[in-house]
Amino acid sequence: MRYYSLNNHDIKASFKEAAITGIARDKGLYFPESIPHLDKDFIENIETYSHAEIALKAITPFVGDAIPQDELKKIVEETLSFDFPLIEVEKDVYSLELFHGPTMAFKDVGARFMSRCLNYFTKGENKKITILVATSGDTGGAVASGFLGVEGIDVVILYPSGKVSAVQEMQLTALGQNITALEVSGTFDDCQDMVKQAFLDDELKDVSLTSANSINIARWLPQMFYYFFAYKELKAKGKLLVISVPSGNFGNICAGMMAKKIGLPISHFIAATNANDTVPRFMQTHEYTPQKTIETLSNAMDVSNPSNFVRILELFGESLKDELTSYSFNDTQTLETLKKLYTENNYLADPHGAVGYLGLKQFMQDNPGYTGVFLETAHPVKFPESIEKALDITIPVPEQIKSVMEGEKKSVKISDYNGLKEILKK
Ligand SMILES: *Cc1c(COP(=O)(O)O)cnc(C)c1O
Repeated sequence: MRYYSLNNHDIKASFKEAAITGIARDKGLYFPESIPHLDKDFIENIETYSHAEIALKAITPFVGDAIPQDELKKIVEETLSFDFPLIEVEKDVYSLELFHGPTMAFKDVGARFMSRCLNYFTKGENKKITILVATSGDTGGAVASGFLGVEGIDVVILYPSGKVSAVQEMQLTALGQNITALEVSGTFDDCQDMVKQAFLDDELKDVSLTSANSINIARWLPQMFYYFFAYKELKAKGKLLVISVPSGNFGNICAGMMAKKIGLPISHFIAATNANDTVPRFMQTHEYTPQKTIETLSNAMDVSNPSNFVRILELFGESLKDELTSYSFNDTQTLETLKKLYTENNYLADPHGAVGYLGLKQFMQDNPGYTGVFLETAHPVKFPESIEKALDITIPVPEQIKSVMEGEKKSVKISDYNGLKEILKK
């Protein structure tokens, strides 16, 4: 499989090159040159396959011959070494819990898959790769955990100072080894802009920079797996399936829409956002006008200019409104929903999952007859401040969080691009 740049279809790269460089030299996101089609037989018998077998089937055509099948099988099995439970929250409404991995956020899957691919590609080469990543909260932790101690790879993470939760911050700053955390006075979009600038900086061309944001195909594509897992569990119900995705940078939902494109029968997608509503407004007005990023309780989605939206447009173009509905919800609604889910449904959600649930309910109210799934993208313990206050409870701290909270925070403060550049030149 080859990939082209969305800015210029003549710029092409192999899976390996796209995974190593992250973004095309003209700043375009990579997109697969052709859309594979899965066997009907596989989809019809999906319940007979394990999670790892399903994932291998889905990802193989995108990787092509860049990684031998037995290696890729190992990578997929290691990536998926935890559970993805589907919980019935109320009649016809399910939560697909994606937070049972090492950093308790769904981004673990993409980060683990990508780190293992890069490790395979750099084995036996002596050039170091530096992963440069901007995080609104969870990406950094998942990437740090996914790449910790991987030989030949350094990780530099930029995060907006004071705008990530305490758990998230420790997951970025307490690991050490090949992980460096840069604390930026600014927003996530500022962090993302600095990363983009570094990729274009000629003075840094001797540093092998790559990104581990969902713009990197090796992080983006494995997120398709979740949608297959949901379908596998709900297929027997024989009803139309709608999946609601709490969305920030729109990588996760874009992977789900790719899964549909290659043959997974999902009827409709909901992109549920917080107050950062660029896409819901676009779906109404056809005008794409990002505004200043707004801070919310679902901070991993505080993104006003979602990178992956161009990929969604490439996938579905004019027919997008048949595939996707998008809603925005504010923090008041999010808190009310956390409470409602806890008291009426006996389900403890996190603010991101609550936004997903809100989007799903809104759609199902107007469109009866569906089975609905919302993605629960982080463990509630990652956002204890808002949840504990709203519900008047204490969330027990799981083991993998406890150990990181006992570590020591180490970060380097930077305030502008020059600060970043100095560190990368070292
Ligand atoms: C990153 C993140 C999201 C948003 O995912 P995108 O792929 O950026 O749309 C939602 N919830 C949580 C908990 C996240 O960490």
